[in-house]
Amino acid sequence: MSKPKVLIFAPREEPPETINAIEGLGCEIVFGERNWQAPRTSYENDVVTAARESVALMGTSLRSTPISRRVMEASQRLRIIAKYSVGVDDVDTDAATELGIMVCHAPTESNCFAVAETTVTFMLALLKKVQQRDTDVRAGKWRTPENFAFYLGARASDGFPGQTVGLVGFGRIGTRVAQLLAPWRARIIAYDPYVPPAHFLTHGVQAVDYETLLRESDVVSFHVVLTKETRYMFGEAQLKLMKPRAIVINTARGRVIDERALARALAENRIRGAAIDAFEEEPLPADSPLRQVGDKIILSPHSAAYTEGGELRQGVAWATRSVVTALKGGVPDNVYNKDVLPRWRERFGGLSIAAP
Ligand code: NAD
Repeated sequence: MSKPKVLIFAPREEPPETINAIEGLGCEIVFGERNWQAPRTSYENDVVTAARESVALMGTSLRSTPISRRVMEASQRLRIIAKYSVGVDDVDTDAATELGIMVCHAPTESNCFAVAETTVTFMLALLKKVQQRDTDVRAGKWRTPENFAFYLGARASDGFPGQTVGLVGFGRIGTRVAQLLAPWRARIIAYDPYVPPAHFLTHGVQAVDYETLLRESDVVSFHVVLTKETRYMFGEAQLKLMKPRAIVINTARGRVIDERALARALAENRIRGAAIDAFEEEPLPADSPLRQVGDKIILSPHSAAYTEGGELRQGVAWATRSVVTALKGGVPDNVYNKDVLPRWRERFGGLSIAAP
C-alpha cells in the first residue's frame, strides 16, 4: 500500500524537524510547484491533482489559487489543512467544515505582535509626518508651516484631548495595538461585535458601533479577519462619515477596503492620509490608483509581520505540530473552524495514520 501523502502546497523552506516529524509517521511529502504562488494565476487543476489522496495539506498562501472545495474533495482521506499564517481567507472554511476537515492557522506571537508594532509605526509616521519632513529637508526646506505634527495622547496639564484611535476588530492584533498605545494616553475606541464587554474594559478601550468609530476617530485602523461580513466593509459610504483630518491604516487584508474609494478620498483631501500593508491584489499592480496619491499614503509590501527571527518560522512549527497531532487522531489547539470538531472526531478521532 502506498504511503499516506502530505501535500505542502506552498512550501517555505521547511526545516528538517518538519520533514522528520511527518516522514516519521510513515507519510510521503509532496511539494507544490513554486509557480503556483505567482499572482494573477490559477493553478486549481494542478493543486486538485496534487491533493489527490492526501491526508494533510499545509503551507502558506497560494495567492491566486485558494484551497477550494474542489481541492478538498480530491481526497476522501483529507484530515487537516494547516496554514503557516494567521489568515485563512484563502481556504473555503465553510466547505472544510461541511466535509469534516479541520482548518488550523498559526496566530503566533511573532506574527501577530509584529503586525501590531508595524501598525503603531505607521500611526506615528503619519501623525508626526516623518516622510514629508524628510522630503522637506532633502529639498532644502526647513520646518514648513504645513508640516506641523499631531500630538497623540491626551495631556492633563493643559487639557489637550489628544487623538482618538479607532480599532476595527479587537482580537489578538487589535488588542496588542491598544496595549502598545496605553502609555501614550490616547483615547482608544474599538468596534468588534464578537468580543465580550469585559475584554474592552480590561484594556481600557471603549466599545462603540462602527458608525461612531468612523465619525469620532482621528486614526482608523483595521484588524478584522476577512470574512463575507468584513469584505469591503470600508468604502465610499464609510469615508463620508470620517473627519477630514483622519488617517486610515490597513494591516489586515486588502479586500476589507475599497482601494479605489480610498484613493479618491485621499486625492480629494477628504481624509488626510493612509498606510496600507495588505492590498486587494498583491503585489500592488503598477496601475493601482493608490500609486497616484503621492506621500499621502505609506505603501508597504505585505510585510507587517516580516521581521528578523520572526516571519513564518514559528508558523511552520505550529502547522507541523497540528498536522502531526491530527494524523495521530488528536485535535490540535489552534483549530479555526471549531464547528467541525464533532464531525471530525467521528471520522478520525483516535485513529492514527501511522503504520502499526
Ligand atoms: P483575530 O481573529 O484575533 O481578530 C480578528 C477580530 O475581528 C476578532 O476579534 C473578530 O471578532 C473581529 N471581527 C470579525 N468580524 C468582524 C466584523 N464584522 N466587524 C468587526 N470585527 C469583526 O485575528 P488577528 O490575529 O488579530 O488578525 C487580524 C487581521 O490581521 C487578520 O485579517 C489577519 O489575516 C491579518 N494579519 C495580517 C498580517 C500582515 O502581514 N499584514 C499578519 C498577520 C495577520
